[in-house]
Amino acid sequence: MSDNIQTVTVLSKTTWTPNLFSFTVSRPDSFKFTAGQFVRLGVNPSRLKYYQQQDEELAALDEDIFRAYSIVSSPFDEVLEFFSIVIPDGAFTSQLQHLEVGDELLLNTMPFGFLTLARYQKPLPKDLWLLATGTGLAPFLSMLQDLKTWNDYEHIVLAYSARSVEELAYIELIERLQADFGSLVDNPAKLIFIPIVTREPVDGALTERLPKLLLDGTLQERAGIALDVDSTHVMLCGNPEMVEDTKEALKTLGLVMNRRGEGNIAVENYW
Ligand code: NAP
Repeated sequence: MSDNIQTVTVLSKTTWTPNLFSFTVSRPDSFKFTAGQFVRLGVNPSRLKYYQQQDEELAALDEDIFRAYSIVSSPFDEVLEFFSIVIPDGAFTSQLQHLEVGDELLLNTMPFGFLTLARYQKPLPKDLWLLATGTGLAPFLSMLQDLKTWNDYEHIVLAYSARSVEELAYIELIERLQADFGSLVDNPAKLIFIPIVTREPVDGALTERLPKLLLDGTLQERAGIALDVDSTHVMLCGNPEMVEDTKEALKTLGLVMNRRGEGNIAVENYW
């Protein structure tokens, strides 16, 4: 095993829907990362109780499969948390869905990715817009659990789109962060949370896709602030088509891609 690979233990699992779950694992003492970064997680059926008990043939394969996962938990947490979808027939998540507390996973301790707030040199931080679909919420939850994010920005808008209300995971955490971190900073209304549910009507949630909401001004109206090219940082994470379409909508509105530290828009495709 490479020097960078460590064994971690599953500490908890939360099932949101039959296809959506979160889990925490132990955090190696030496492992450091910045909010918004990814790691490679490895699964091996021989290390999962489910396969040991139900499928001796697969367990005997003893094969590691690695995938990139964005970290949900804050850089200051004692554990590492991840948010996952089950992809039908997906080699990795079809095994991962059977995780149980006490199982072992592999962690490549070299974090990577550029969806971090440190990338913004110009404009300086003022308004932060975090636009996510599905499991693309993960890096933003990590950033929102870092007090520096709350201190650096005047307004933080989190718009989070899912197909159905049951797929809008982490609502309680978002509300808790609004209350807990909100009370530590000058402006307690700093985090403006905008849920979007696209395939069923839900009280209090917007229903259209992000590019349309931006182009017709609904999102800005709901947030109560404008998207100003001189003061706005926008991060996109999730479905690659959403990232592409939303990027184009933002460019139409006059915002520019962040390159070498300058510009408004930073993106990460989640798959
Ligand atoms: P999803 O189709 O990504 O939908 C989540 C939200 O994104 C919905 O509100 C959806 O709106 C919206 N959306 C989709 N395309 C958009 C676009 N072009 N512009 C703006 N908004 C857009 O659903 P999901 O359940 O999170 O993921 C769907 C599939 O993606 C999974 O079943 C899986 O196969 C794959 N996936 C793969 C990975 C991976 O790591 N390989 C990770 C996550 C997901 P609408 O309801 O209008 O479509």
